[in-house]
Amino acid sequence: MQLVFATNNLNKLKEVQSLIPDHIKLLSLKEIGCFEDVPETQNTIKGNAIQKAEYIKEHYGYDCFADDTGLEVEALNNEPGVFSARYAGPQRDANDNMDLLLNNLKEKPNRNAQFKTVVSLHLNGNLKTFTGICKGEITLDKKGNQGFGYDPIFMPNGYTETFAEIDLKLKNEIGHRGKAVAKLVEFLNTL
Ligand code: IMP
Repeated sequence: MQLVFATNNLNKLKEVQSLIPDHIKLLSLKEIGCFEDVPETQNTIKGNAIQKAEYIKEHYGYDCFADDTGLEVEALNNEPGVFSARYAGPQRDANDNMDLLLNNLKEKPNRNAQFKTVVSLHLNGNLKTFTGICKGEITLDKKGNQGFGYDPIFMPNGYTETFAEIDLKLKNEIGHRGKAVAKLVEFLNTL
């Protein structure tokens, strides 16, 4: 089976590739000749995940899955949420986003947060979604240099290191995207 993973994020491709069973050939957007920005203009994480998968099916004809992720911070009314990528502005800069978040949390004792990933699958004319959540807290400073996005300031519950300090295999096991993709894989294995 061939499936497109609708992302241009090489970090995500690497993460997800290692989780998908061998009998499913994963195609990147580049491999199907898609070099445009796939629209994600909805106001929920789930809405964006669905929009991306539907766009690829409609414009390129491939069965496809897409993901959308947001970081929800309790003391900030679950912001940045769907705005995680552009929290500090349209430049979508991870350092700017983390600095703004740390600044907005300065006076707040509650640092609980969660990553939420929704994966949407467009397959044989049907649409399904799978959700993965990873709970943790926002650290006081950035730590580690692996991963991407908010990884240096997110410490998953039960661990003493940030996502940017732990290895990818462990991040996949306990992380939001890994959990959502595990549900996707479980479903694909029933086909
Ligand atoms: P996306 O729309 O799924 O690409 O995610 C939106 C934003 O959330 C990204 O630009 C990152 O800033 C952040 N993000 C998504 N996944 C992760 C992750 O696994 N670790 C840290 N930040 C992430």
